Amino acid sequence: MTLTSCIVDSITPLTPYVQRVVLIPDQPVDFLPGQYLQLCLTEQDKRPFSLASLPGLSELELHIGASAADEYSSQALTHLQQQQQKGQPVQVEAGLGHAHLRTERDNPIVLLAGGTGFSYIYSIAQALQQQGSNRPVFLYWGVRQHESLYLLPELQQWASSQSKFRFIPVVQDPDDSWQGRAGLVHEAVLEDFVSLEAYDIYIAGPFPMVGVARDAFLKQGAHQQQMFADAFAYI
Ligand SMILES: Cc1cc2nc3c(=O)[nH]c(=O)nc-3n(C[C@H](O)[C@H](O)[C@H](O)COP(=O)(O)OP(=O)(O)OC[C@H]3O[C@@H](n4cnc5c(N)ncnc54)[C@H](O)[C@@H]3O)c2cc1C
Repeated sequence: MTLTSCIVDSITPLTPYVQRVVLIPDQPVDFLPGQYLQLCLTEQDKRPFSLASLPGLSELELHIGASAADEYSSQALTHLQQQQQKGQPVQVEAGLGHAHLRTERDNPIVLLAGGTGFSYIYSIAQALQQQGSNRPVFLYWGVRQHESLYLLPELQQWASSQSKFRFIPVVQDPDDSWQGRAGLVHEAVLEDFVSLEAYDIYIAGPFPMVGVARDAFLKQGAHQQQMFADAFAYI
C-alpha cells in the first residue's frame, strides 16, 4: 500500500446516481485486479472505493454511487469535485484488499455484483479478458432499475463474442420494458446452479447482499475458501 497524490481528471455521470471518476496519479500505482483504494478525506476519514480499471495504466477509474441520501459516497464526491475545482490533488491509498483475482487457479468463476459493486467485478472481468483466460465466467449484475446497467451494451457484446463468458443482468424492480431476469441478484445465481461447489465466487455490493449471498451460497455447496469479498471484513 502506498500513499499517492492524484489529479482529479474528470467526473462524469454514468447514470443520474453513479459517477465515473478518473484520477491521474503522480507516480505508478501498484495493485491487483479487484483491489480497492481509500480516498483520504482527512487523515482519519478514509473511504474505500473499488478500482474499476486495470493495473499498469496511467489512469485510475472509480464508479461512485451518487445518491444524495448516501453520505458515504456523496461526501467523497464533494471532496473530489472541490479538489478538482481548486486544481488541487487528492490523496489515495491504493492496492488494498484481499479479494483480488486469483490467477493461479482454473475453476470456473461466478462474478456477483450488486449496484456499484460492479466496479470491482468489472476490473476482474477485464483482467480475465486481458489474460485470454479460458475459464468459464458467469457475470451477474443486480440493480434496482434497468437504467442503472450503465455498461449493458459492452457486456452484451462480450457475451455474444465469447462462448465462455455469460452475462446475466438482474433487475429488482423492473418496468414493462425489461425483458430479462427479475428479482434479487443472488437468488438468480441460486436458481441457475444446482451446486456451487466447483466455482470460485467473487462478490461485491451492499453489505446486506454480500451477507445473504455468502450464507445462501454456502448452503448451495460453495466453499468458504473459494469465495472472495472485501465486505466479509465488515459484516
Ligand atoms: C472495499 C469496499 C469497496 C467499495 N467500493 C465502492 C465503489 O467502488 N463505489 C461505491 O459507490 N461504493 C463502494 N463501496 C461502498 C458500498 O459497497 C456501496 O455503497 C454499495 O455496494 C452500494 O450498493 P448500491 O446502493 O449501488 O446497491 P443497491 O442499489 O442497494 O442494490 C443493488 C442490488 O443488490 C441486491 N441487494 C441489495 N440489498 C439487498 C439485500 N438486503 N438482500 C439481498 N440483496 C440485496 C439487489 O439485487 C439489488 O438490486 C465500497 C465499500 C467497501 C467496503
